[in-house]
Amino acid sequence: MMNDPALYPCFLGPYAENDDLLESLVVGFLRDHVYWRRNLHPEDTPVIPTGANRRPDYIAFESRLRRELHQLSASLKRSVPFHSPRYIGHMVSDLLIPGLAAQILALPYNPNNVSADAAPVTIDLELKVGLQLAAMVGFPADPGRDDCAFGHLTSGGTLANLQGLRLALALKCFPVALREAGAPVDGLPEDDWAAFNLAQTEAIALLERWHSFLKMLPAPERSRWRERVECQRIESLGMHAFFERHRALAPPLVFAPSTAHYSWSKGMKMLGLGRDQLRLIPGRAMRLDTYTLAEALDDCLRRRQPVLMTVGVLGSTEFGTIDPLDALADLREGMQAKGLGFALHADAAWGGYLCTLFRDEEGRLREADAVGREFAQFPTAAVHAAIGALGRMDSVTIDPHKLGYLPYGSGAFVCRDQRAIGLLSESADYVFSERDEGDFFARHRQLGRYIPEGSKPGANAAAVYVVHRTLPLDHKHFGRLQAQSIRSTEAFLAEAHAFVDRSAGRVRALVPFDPDSNLVCLAINPRGNDDPRVMNRFMRRLHKRLSADAEKPLQLGEYFGSITTLKPDSLGPEETRRILDALGFAADALIEGEEDADRIVVLRHTLMHPFLLDQGHGSSYLAGYFEFLERQIDRLMAMDNGAAHA
Ligand SMILES: *Cc1c(COP(=O)(O)O)cnc(C)c1O
Repeated sequence: MMNDPALYPCFLGPYAENDDLLESLVVGFLRDHVYWRRNLHPEDTPVIPTGANRRPDYIAFESRLRRELHQLSASLKRSVPFHSPRYIGHMVSDLLIPGLAAQILALPYNPNNVSADAAPVTIDLELKVGLQLAAMVGFPADPGRDDCAFGHLTSGGTLANLQGLRLALALKCFPVALREAGAPVDGLPEDDWAAFNLAQTEAIALLERWHSFLKMLPAPERSRWRERVECQRIESLGMHAFFERHRALAPPLVFAPSTAHYSWSKGMKMLGLGRDQLRLIPGRAMRLDTYTLAEALDDCLRRRQPVLMTVGVLGSTEFGTIDPLDALADLREGMQAKGLGFALHADAAWGGYLCTLFRDEEGRLREADAVGREFAQFPTAAVHAAIGALGRMDSVTIDPHKLGYLPYGSGAFVCRDQRAIGLLSESADYVFSERDEGDFFARHRQLGRYIPEGSKPGANAAAVYVVHRTLPLDHKHFGRLQAQSIRSTEAFLAEAHAFVDRSAGRVRALVPFDPDSNLVCLAINPRGNDDPRVMNRFMRRLHKRLSADAEKPLQLGEYFGSITTLKPDSLGPEETRRILDALGFAADALIEGEEDADRIVVLRHTLMHPFLLDQGHGSSYLAGYFEFLERQIDRLMAMDNGAAHA
C-alpha cells in the first residue's frame, strides 16, 4: 500500500517539498494586494514618506519588531509537529495548501463576516460553504427552494453545537409563545404540551402561517402583533419566567451518548438549561445504545417531561466511533407519533467530511459495496447506514478545521431548513424585512444576527470555500483524502495486530474495539499485572515518551501519540468483560468511583496524515511506530524489573 499521488500537490509536505508552490502563491498574491491598494486612488500622494525608513525611530522600531519576530519564530519551533507522519496523536495534521494560501491571501483585506457591509465578498462564500456542506450531508441544497438548508461557519464545533441547541430551543418554544399570545393563526396546538412537542416540519409550517398573517396587516397593527408574540418568547422571558408561565412544561432534557464531547456540557451551561438537563446515555462498544435511549424517552413521555434534543455522534472525539443515526432517526419518528417531539442533531465535528467518500460526483449516496471496493473492512453496514441517515437530522456540526485539513478557527453549523433560523435573529424583524425580498443570499447576508459570535474572520470562509472548490466534496476529489486516511487506518490495524502477537510474551495488548473511522486505540498491560492502576500508570509513562516535550529538542521525539480512557459506561458490561479478560484482569477488576481504578488508559491514534504509508526508509511510518513502541515497552519493563530487584 502506498501514498496517493493525487495528494502530492495538496500539502506543503513533511519535508516542505512544495515550498516553491506555496511561496509563489503567497508572495504573488501579496503583490496583488499591494497593487490593489495602489490602484484605489493612484492620484493620492503616499502618506508614509519614502525616506521614513531612514528615520532613527523607524529603524529602532524595525529592529524591535525583527527581534520579537525572531523570538516568536524561534519559540514556535517548539510547536507540536502536526505536519509530520510521525504525528498520530490528536485530530490534526498537515494543512491543505488551497486553504492555507486562500486564508493568507484574504487576511490583509480583513473581511468581517458579521455582515455584508463589512464583507461584500466573503460572506457569500460562507453562505456557499454552508450549501456545499448541506449537499455533502444530504440536506436540500438548492437555494431556490423554500426549505433549502442553511449553514454558516463558527469558531469551531463547540459553538456549532451551541447553535444547534439554541435553534432547537427557539423552534420548540415558539409555538408555545404563539398560543400564549393568542395569535389568530390556523392550526394552533390545543395545549402547551402539544405546542412544545410539534414536529419540526409542523412548527415551521406554523411559523410560516404566522409570517403570512403579519404580512397581510397594516404596519402599525403588524408591529403590535409582533410585539405581543415577541414578549411571550423564551428568548424574551428567559428560562425561569417562561417555565413559570407554562407549568405543564418543565425545562427540557437533552440526550447524548456517554462519548459526547464536553462542548455539550458547556452548551447546556451557556444556554442556562443547566448541565443536569444533559443526560448521557450509556453505550455499547462506544456507540450509543438505542434501547437504553428508547427507554429513557418512553419514561419522559410517561412523566410528561419535555425533551429538547437528542444528539448522535458521527465520529466520537476519543474513539472515532459512529452512533446509529439511522436507528436514532427511526426512534425519533416513533416517539413523534406517540406525541414526544424533539430535535435531532448529529455532532459530526470529527466525521463530517467522511461523507465525501460516500458521495458521487452528482451528489448521490454511493452504495456500500462501491465505497468498500478500495478498503479491506470499511465501511461496515452500520457506518454506511449512519452516513445515509444524516439527511434525516435537523442540524449537523462539521469541523473544517479537523478532517477538512484547514487552519483552526473554522467549525460549521448546518440546519436542514433555513426557515427556522430567523428565530435566532437579534432584532425582532426576523419576520420579513429581507425575508421576502431577494434570494437566499440576500436573506442571509446579515449573518451577525443569527450566529453566537459577532465579528468573525472572512478569511476563514474564503479558505474553506477554496478548498471545497479545488477539491469538491465527492469521492473522486476530497474523498481521496479521506480514503487515504481509511487505508492508513487499515494498515495501522494490521501492524497493530502483528504487534499484539509479537509482544505477547511480555505484554497483553489489544485493539479494544474495531474503529468505525480513522481513530484506533491500543491497550497494553504488562504480563502478570492484575491491577488496572498499575497498567494505567504504565500507559501514562509510555505516553510521556510519545509526547512533544517543550523542554527538549523536538528531534528527540520519535513519534507522537495521545491517550484516552475507556470507561464501562461507554463500553457496556459485555464489552468491558471481554476487554478486561483479554488484558488479563478479573471481571470485577474495575472499581466504580475509585480514582484511576474505574477506567482503563489506552493509547489513541488519529490516522489522518496523508502520507503515513510512505515507504521512504524501507518500511512505513506505521511499522516504525510499532518498533518504537516495542523498544519503549522493553525499556519501561526493564526499569520496573530493575526497581523490583534493587
Ligand atoms: C472536536 C469536537 C467538538 C468540538 O469542536 P471544537 O472545534 O474543538 O470546538 C465537538 N464534538 C466532537 C465530536 C468533536 O470531535
